[in-house]
Amino acid sequence: GESLRLDKYLADMGVGTRSEVKGYIRKGRVKVNSQVEKQPERKITGEDTVTFDERRISYIETEYYMLNKPAGVVSATRDKLSSTVVDLIDEGKRKDLFPVGRLDKDTEGLLLITNDGDLAHRLLSPKKHVKKLYFARVQGRVEMEDVLRFQEGITLEEDFTTLPAELLIKKTGEESEVFVTVCEGKFHQIKRMFEAVGKEVLYLKRLKMGELALDETLCPGEYRKLTREEIELLK
Ligand code: URA
Repeated sequence: GESLRLDKYLADMGVGTRSEVKGYIRKGRVKVNSQVEKQPERKITGEDTVTFDERRISYIETEYYMLNKPAGVVSATRDKLSSTVVDLIDEGKRKDLFPVGRLDKDTEGLLLITNDGDLAHRLLSPKKHVKKLYFARVQGRVEMEDVLRFQEGITLEEDFTTLPAELLIKKTGEESEVFVTVCEGKFHQIKRMFEAVGKEVLYLKRLKMGELALDETLCPGEYRKLTREEIELLK
C-alpha cells in the first residue's frame, strides 16, 4: 500500500506540528511496531502500528470485544478443521481481529478479541506479569498443602517454576472447586500445576485478565464490545 514519512503521518494525525513531532521522535516518544523509532523520515504503511507515548495513533479504529469462550472452539483467527473464537464475532469478517492469548479448546471464559496489537503485546509480555483469575473444578480433595505449594510456585519444567500463585478453595471433596490466580501464561499452565500436585482439572474457566472481568451475563459463545472504562482498565 501507500507509505508515508513518520513525521508527516504524526502531524496529519494531529499529534503536533511537523517540527514538534520531529522533537517527539528524537526524544524516543514514538514507537513503530513496539520499537522506538528515532528517524522522522522512516516510511510507514497501513500495516505498521505507530504509538506516541504508548497511545496508538491510527486511522483504523481499534476495536475490543470480550467473548465468553465456549468449550470446543480454538483460540486462533482461522482454522481449517475447527471453528475459532474469531468466527464467533460477527464483525470477524473484517479480518484484522485476533484473540489476545490462548485458552485451551476445552476451556471457557474471558477472551479479549481485538485488532490492537500493542495492547496485546502489553498484556502478553512475560515481563508484565498480568494476573489471570480462573475458576476450576478439580478431581480430588484440594487442601491447605496445595495452597502452600501454589504459593511457593510450582515447577513445571526443569528450568521453569511459576511465580507464586494464589489458590483459594471454594469447596473441597471428591471433586473440589477453586479459584486460581497466575501471573504467567504457559501452555496448559493451570492443568499442569494441578497435575504437579497429583490432581486433574475437570473444568476450567477464565474470569479475569488484569483488571478486566468477564461479564457474567454473557452466555458461552456470546460477546460484547468493551466499554470505554474497561478499555482504560487495560492500559
Ligand atoms: N491454563 C490451562 O491449563 N488452560 C487454559 O486454557 C488456560 C490456562
